[in-house]
Amino acid sequence: MFEWYWVNLAGFLVQVISSTVITVWIHRTWCHRGLNSNESVATFSRFWLWMVGWYWPNLLQHFSATHRKHHARSDREDDPHSPFYFTFSQLVFEKVDGKGTPGKPYYMPPEEVQRWASDVPTYDDWLERRVFRTYPKRGPLIVALAYLILFGWLGLLNGLLWIFFTRISARMHNYMSHKTGYRNWPHTDPIDKSVNIVPIGILWGGEEFGANHHDDPQSPRFSRTWFEFDIGWLTVLVLGYFGLVQFIDDRQVKDKWYLKGWYKYKKVDKRVKNQL
Ligand SMILES: [Zn+2]
Ligand SMILES: [Zn+2]
Repeated sequence: MFEWYWVNLAGFLVQVISSTVITVWIHRTWCHRGLNSNESVATFSRFWLWMVGWYWPNLLQHFSATHRKHHARSDREDDPHSPFYFTFSQLVFEKVDGKGTPGKPYYMPPEEVQRWASDVPTYDDWLERRVFRTYPKRGPLIVALAYLILFGWLGLLNGLLWIFFTRISARMHNYMSHKTGYRNWPHTDPIDKSVNIVPIGILWGGEEFGANHHDDPQSPRFSRTWFEFDIGWLTVLVLGYFGLVQFIDDRQVKDKWYLKGWYKYKKVDKRVKNQL
């Protein structure tokens, strides 16, 4: 039966989990090597991303390569997704398939992918071969079917909007985090135009904090001041508590801000210190 609030709550949760997976596993773990994630985090992330339509061959390496180049060349001519060189519709709606077309956003030929991200793993296991690669688009169909079964036809229509939003949301915040928002301090790189979109990082998993992140890319914590909340960082702390991720850099433990307000932190702190 169609209940708009349940459908939208489901859509919102799927969106938040998807963005959190992207930010924790792809972005904070692999693009910047700020964390080590164990195999169960990797398998869950790969499966979840496939379910929400985030699959293309070599996704992890391709994403990491374009993203590292984006940091190295922020808002310069060869930045793969600067909003100062591409329009909103180009950045958000143009097809990304891991190869792309020269001159288009997110373009990265295989040899460049190797140059930027040869340390990032590629997968060729059973899941990859028999499920993801064989049925690359089946995930969102399953999600759509779940909306239909749970909420009926109206629920499905409503759910499709969320599926679409989840599909394009990383590209939306890539655009916005260099376009509209605030900064806590002046740019260190005068050409980089990154900004924090809003101080509450939930909808996009904490990817809202573009400026904070560009100023300290390896840090797995994107929030910086007392009024900022980063759900990706909270997820990292919870996963860290259960031993599913490990911090590579100890700068975070010395940061006083996040010692406040999270009661389990001290245990995580101990765990992190033990492993250093
Ligand atoms: Zn950026
Ligand atoms: Zn980054």
